[in-house]
Amino acid sequence: MSIDNPKMVPSHDALARQLALTVPGMAHFATTGPKGTTCGECEFLQPALNKKTENRCQRYFWMMREWSRTHLPASTPSCKHFSEKQT
Ligand code: SF4
Repeated sequence: MSIDNPKMVPSHDALARQLALTVPGMAHFATTGPKGTTCGECEFLQPALNKKTENRCQRYFWMMREWSRTHLPASTPSCKHFSEKQT
């Protein structure tokens, strides 16, 4: 099957950038959320239960039925499941 519109397919460079910025424990690939937003602005980023200096993604927890073991920095570019924190 061919794809007629090349704009529908991310470039190799764009995919490589997404993979390079994605952190284990994210709910989806980095940079797939609203432009310019970060995990730190997302309501799903939570302090880790036993390591208060680290963060985990609650959306990842809901999908995988377990918490990620790795820290998710607040500065990480958001994913497509981004949901802005309510103040
Ligand atoms: S943007 Fe939100 S849902 Fe996506 S990985 Fe970051 S904290 Fe999780």
